[in-house]
Amino acid sequence: MRNVAEDPPAVPLLDINRENRLVRDEIQQAMARVCDQGCFLHGDEVRRLEAVLAARCGVPYAVSCASGSDALLLALMAHEIGPGDDVILPSFTFFATAGAVWRLGARPVFVDIDPLTYNLDPALVEAAITSQTRAVIPVHLFGRCADMHAISEIAECHQVLVVEDAAQAIAALHRDRAAGAWGDIGCFSFYPTKNLGGFGDGGMLTTGDEQTAERLRLLAAHGMQPRYYHSHVGINSRLDTLQAAVLNVKEAQLDHLTERRRANAARYREWFATAVDAAQLVLPEEDTDGFHVWNQFTVRVPGGRRDALRNFLQERRVGTEVYYPVPLHQQVCFADLGYGPGSLPHTENAALEVLSLPVFPELSEAEQHAVVAGVADFFAASSRAVA
Ligand SMILES: *Cc1c(COP(=O)(O)O)cnc(C)c1O
Repeated sequence: MRNVAEDPPAVPLLDINRENRLVRDEIQQAMARVCDQGCFLHGDEVRRLEAVLAARCGVPYAVSCASGSDALLLALMAHEIGPGDDVILPSFTFFATAGAVWRLGARPVFVDIDPLTYNLDPALVEAAITSQTRAVIPVHLFGRCADMHAISEIAECHQVLVVEDAAQAIAALHRDRAAGAWGDIGCFSFYPTKNLGGFGDGGMLTTGDEQTAERLRLLAAHGMQPRYYHSHVGINSRLDTLQAAVLNVKEAQLDHLTERRRANAARYREWFATAVDAAQLVLPEEDTDGFHVWNQFTVRVPGGRRDALRNFLQERRVGTEVYYPVPLHQQVCFADLGYGPGSLPHTENAALEVLSLPVFPELSEAEQHAVVAGVADFFAASSRAVA
């Protein structure tokens, strides 16, 4: 892996255009059909996407909404979570997971992660449950499912709801069950960088319970049923027909694109194993208990050298990102919750050490080679500097 090409290619962290270019004509035709029909909300494409997503997850009901953030909010609203309620969730996640809890006046209770999987540690979830706890929100970070078997058992035993944040994990499995099919409600996002990304915002909720599905639909439509009669105070959260039309085209490609992500991840793991010392670069593990969909390929750089590696790669025009640099329990807006430094050690370490590398489906082998060579050169140069 040391024979760097004369002029290594620039490698973007993500190139959405490559994916969209392949289905450009099909998407344009689908959008043209929506334009001609003029049914921009609640169109056929929306119902079709809901049916497709429900079937994919193996659940009877899917309800669309305007974003993954709204999906989380609606899921908690459907169970009337609010002031006086505690909701357990990881701190190592995107802000929306906690924002939904806070917005409803409930208290986010942050629990530490398993440092190998970056997902909630079930033992710590159980230890954090009190009589105030109403729900737990496991996040399937980077496309790998949390240990839903253990978390579901704990939740059932303590009569706590489970809302899955599956925004990064569409098509992932834990054991033989899909992300979004383990909890009382599953939440998905179609933000453009997710594995199934639209041309803007979009979201979906999955559930096995008919009443929950009806409630979610009601709450996403201002609690209005029939028209202009409001039994509940809901929100306005709809998936546009145009978005659904785009997503239906792209959904048909999802399994194929997921396989390409998995092949890219496997190739990284193979190439890095011979190119870089495992003590310098900790690779993400395959999920032996599920199906990892690799929304991100996130390595760890111990010893305080993460940012130096990131700068080195940037000079080589290799795109990287830190998901996430500031854990939620350390965000200014949550200072009043009283989590001091060191309160979630695995989360705080991860925030200092993680670096996500390009893993998008259309990444070429030459580009992957450039990424691996760049990382290897960084460590070779830094060990020369030490010697
Ligand atoms: C993207 C994301 C969300 C929010 O989804 P939006 O559609 O952007 O609102 C929530 N949770 C996680 C873990 C995410 O990655």
